[in-house]
Amino acid sequence: MKEFQLIEKYFLNRGQKRRDVLLDIGDDCALVEPASGKSIAISCDTLVEGVHFFADMPAHALGYKSLAVNLSDLAAMGAEPAWMTLALSLPNVDEQWLSEFSNGLFEAAEYYQVALIGGDTTRGPRCINITINGQVPKGKALKRSAAKVGDWIYVTGTLGDSALGLDLLRGVYQVAPQFKDYLLNRHYYPTPRVLAGQSLRGLASSAIDLSDGLVSDIGHILKASNVGAVIDANQIPISTALASCVSEEQALAYALTGGEDYELLFTVPESERGAIDTALLHAGVKFVKIGQICAGDKLKFTLDGKPFTPDFKGFEHF
Ligand code: ADP
Ligand code: MG
Repeated sequence: MKEFQLIEKYFLNRGQKRRDVLLDIGDDCALVEPASGKSIAISCDTLVEGVHFFADMPAHALGYKSLAVNLSDLAAMGAEPAWMTLALSLPNVDEQWLSEFSNGLFEAAEYYQVALIGGDTTRGPRCINITINGQVPKGKALKRSAAKVGDWIYVTGTLGDSALGLDLLRGVYQVAPQFKDYLLNRHYYPTPRVLAGQSLRGLASSAIDLSDGLVSDIGHILKASNVGAVIDANQIPISTALASCVSEEQALAYALTGGEDYELLFTVPESERGAIDTALLHAGVKFVKIGQICAGDKLKFTLDGKPFTPDFKGFEHF
């Protein structure tokens, strides 16, 4: 199969059509028409076989997740998804794989109204790179750099599920089938908090998506904003599955250091707390207050009201 036949069969005229796309796949460039009064938000993520996913990862999940992780970056900025390009490197033309991969990709693309407007296809080790473009009203993007002392810290969803899902794939634990299904699903099909991110505009002072684990990612906000934080470990949201499969200590370690949850962590001034409750209720997302921004540059924890130093080194696979 020739390159353009492959593109035609699996990627052309599929998924979301958008009126703001003037020219899509087929020319040297795509042309889009941004809405007036909006800035374009751009991000890209690369997934390399053997580094970011196992060779036997179901192709449908890989297609879905490749887009979902990019959408999560838009969510963290409060941007609305619009267009994407796909750079695909494949060792061979495996039509079964391409069919499932593209179905997964377009499932996410349709749900979040993203149009595929171009890309690049090459032979090489399996690797997926998506560049996502979104739009955000001028001056309204949620940045990492504006958290203030006294702001409250919130997270969406539950934390640590994806990392335990990954450990199940590695064979580190055996767990009951209903928990296994849930945890693998959280690892394979993360939910980018796109609507939640948009509804935080004008209310949250800063935001980030949790891709590398809470401890690591909140560090980016603290550094960019020149502040510290105190997190109440008792408030960290942990799913029934995670709580049922490992000890309390391990569950906390997963939740604080496990990667790939793709939940949002954001900071909110006291004056906007009521508005945040309403906004996120409308976005249909669970969220919880886990701590507060403070002066300094340290990340501190409390447990049962007392200062607490998590010992993550006790868990060898972290
Ligand atoms: P060029 O040589 O000008 O870079 P290509 O021959 O690589 O263009 O690609 C032809 C068209 O197909 C372009 O519009 C490109 O954006 C699109 N395209 C190539 N690969 C993909 C892909 N994996 N997904 C979507 N569009 C693609
Ligand atoms: Mg060209």
